[in-house]
Amino acid sequence: MVQLEVVDSSTPRVQPEPPTISVVLPAHNEGEGIRHAIEVVAGVLRQCNVSHELIVVDDGSRDDTWEQIREAAARHGYVRGLRFSRNFGKEAALLAGLRAARGKAVITMDADLQHPPSAIPEMLKCWREGAMVVHAVKRDRSTDSFMQRARAKLFNGLISRLGRIDLESASDYKLLDRTAVEVLVERLPERERFFRGLAQWIGFPQASVPFSVAPRAAGTGKWSLLGLVNLATTAVLSFTGAPLRLVTILGSVTLLFAAIVGGEALVSWVRGNAAAGFLTLEFTLLIIGSFIMISLGIVGEYIAKIYEELKGRPSFLVHERAGFEDEAAETGREREPSRFAG
Ligand code: UDP
Ligand code: MG
Repeated sequence: MVQLEVVDSSTPRVQPEPPTISVVLPAHNEGEGIRHAIEVVAGVLRQCNVSHELIVVDDGSRDDTWEQIREAAARHGYVRGLRFSRNFGKEAALLAGLRAARGKAVITMDADLQHPPSAIPEMLKCWREGAMVVHAVKRDRSTDSFMQRARAKLFNGLISRLGRIDLESASDYKLLDRTAVEVLVERLPERERFFRGLAQWIGFPQASVPFSVAPRAAGTGKWSLLGLVNLATTAVLSFTGAPLRLVTILGSVTLLFAAIVGGEALVSWVRGNAAAGFLTLEFTLLIIGSFIMISLGIVGEYIAKIYEELKGRPSFLVHERAGFEDEAAETGREREPSRFAG
């Protein structure tokens, strides 16, 4: 059992020369394919002739992913591994990778080779030409099933419209300059993150490189429908207050409806035939009732988010490390800027 301890930042550690490129690979139950993915990505980087490191984050896998990562780290000096204490989700794994990365630029990509490493040379070219955030955007989703495509379209379309950021065809396959990484890691204190949106939100010179989604190299997709719904909720809530405006709109619509029905009732009363109208009454009650509950739900979602952020729990906990100078665990917190200081 590894003790959780906070690394004392006052003792300087001898750091080797930082590599040019760090690649962050979040992995959840990727035991079957992770070693192959590491070899392929490293091969492409060698061909590009850049010094590199690979940071593989084991996001609470239940298979032998960690053993594979540890072996790879023992064999190759450029592989470094982090193991979460449990499954914290891909967003947390990306954050952990970005924090640990030392490269002058960091590439984030899936560990299942669905983000083809062949796009890396093109991304490096954009970076050398001055882009500080390079998005790899999906050219087509021909390998996804119809349902997956419909789901992605609905998801990205909704957030693009509500959050006023362009997420159509967006993916987590990106290259970030050190400046962009520092901003994402140090300057954005939020704990619930939506990497895809934040990478756009920060601005700086951005560029896009198209890629075709490859079929999964091994294993199966890890997203449940519920997982996607949660991601979508986080995305919408963290980027826009638009749903709250929907509450106001619902209220206005109900008011208009009330005025019409009320007017009609008044006229009936004046004419002396006010008894009929049970159906209207029933519908009115039901509609207003549902509107109120939906509105409460929306407001509640925001309050829940505020509560989550306020608790200030770390986004992840690291249990083990491999290939780091000190292989002790860390709490994942010590480098987070305190929101109550300064
Ligand atoms: N992943 C993760 N934590 C999770 C779920 C997924 O780190 O809780 C990783 C997974 O290992 C993979 C990437 O995120 O490297 C994308 O996951 P997946 O291939 O299941 O999703 P899709 O390709 O459908 O987007
Ligand atoms: Mg995948």
